[in-house]
Amino acid sequence: MKKVSLEKCTSYQYDAVRESIRKTISNLGGLSLYVQPGERVLLKVNLLMKKRPEEATTTHPVFVQALADELLDYGCHVLIGDSPGGPFTEGALRGIYKVCGYEAIAEISDVTLNWKLGGVQVKHEHGVILKQLTVVEFLKDVDKVISVSKLKTHGMMKFTGAVKNMFGIIPGLLKAEYHFKMPEVKDFSQMLVDVCSYADPVLSFMDGIVGMEGAGPSGGDPREIGVVIGSDSPYHLDVIATQVIGIEPLSVPTIARSMETGFLDGNFNDIEVVGLPIDTWCISDFKAPNIRSVEFLSRMPRLVKRLGDKAVRPRPVFMHSKCVGCGDCAEACPPHVIEMRGNKPYVNLDGCIRCFCCQELCPALAVEIKRPWMMKWLTR
Ligand code: SF4
Ligand code: SF4
Repeated sequence: MKKVSLEKCTSYQYDAVRESIRKTISNLGGLSLYVQPGERVLLKVNLLMKKRPEEATTTHPVFVQALADELLDYGCHVLIGDSPGGPFTEGALRGIYKVCGYEAIAEISDVTLNWKLGGVQVKHEHGVILKQLTVVEFLKDVDKVISVSKLKTHGMMKFTGAVKNMFGIIPGLLKAEYHFKMPEVKDFSQMLVDVCSYADPVLSFMDGIVGMEGAGPSGGDPREIGVVIGSDSPYHLDVIATQVIGIEPLSVPTIARSMETGFLDGNFNDIEVVGLPIDTWCISDFKAPNIRSVEFLSRMPRLVKRLGDKAVRPRPVFMHSKCVGCGDCAEACPPHVIEMRGNKPYVNLDGCIRCFCCQELCPALAVEIKRPWMMKWLTR
């Protein structure tokens, strides 16, 4: 049986967040079940890109600070880290820590921000498709890992929660290589579950005070949800998080793969919800992307895919009027099918694997995912 705690919190006022996190920890049986005084604990936050906290793309700094302070008071050493999207450089980290509000946490609390940029190769005997992988070097500096994710939608995965948050232990642009090697949703989501099972977080927290709906994980709209979720299992946390926002859990590929891999019971009978009941949140209008169109075509034979490409396949569309010509999309594109001409991106859709990294990492919200009407009709 795994526990998932739900608590209400409707603002990022420090005392309110700390109180919700304290209740969450208590609902889960107390910190002593998971970490010990003196241990080095990594808070694996979501720092996808340089966005202000109120844009709801990254884990809110007050949420992270409140959790870090609980761990510090208990006697743990706290390292805060993530390998964001795009290049993993000191300059990129500095900008992200500053804009996302993390520089300020390090000034107030006795936490350490990660500056290590290297990767190390590791074996993962229990991985289903990843038997070995390269992970961030700083993972080796800690005794325990805690996932601290943001509740958001995702263009390829529909929902990005505690499990997908662990993809940030893959350093920098190597993430794009994984996209390229595993372009099908099924393989990619299994890879995410493998990465999560390698990281094996002892606890998982989700900042759902203000989440993101619509074109997540970076181009959507902030949505007030008012929930703090915690669990001793990232797989079970994601199930309850999707139920809170009215998404059918098994429509999320990482949840389906977690079940196939044996991390979740088939009927979700192995989840004990503690704290407040799910129906405290009656959210029926949460806007999530319809990814069936992405999955539907990935199951088709190659010839059908090619013939039906334009008519049915969702595709990235670059809005040159909004584009600031930074080139981040071209740099991050796994198959390198984006070419910058006259400071504007042009894509060769023949080689596009529909990973939507370009949309995810565009700082100007200049990339939209268009779903052709025929696919909308076929998968309605
Ligand atoms: S589309 Fe976005 S990421 Fe690509 S060059 Fe323009 S602003 Fe940069
Ligand atoms: S163009 Fe965008 S969606 Fe297509 S492969 Fe490149 S990053 Fe992925």
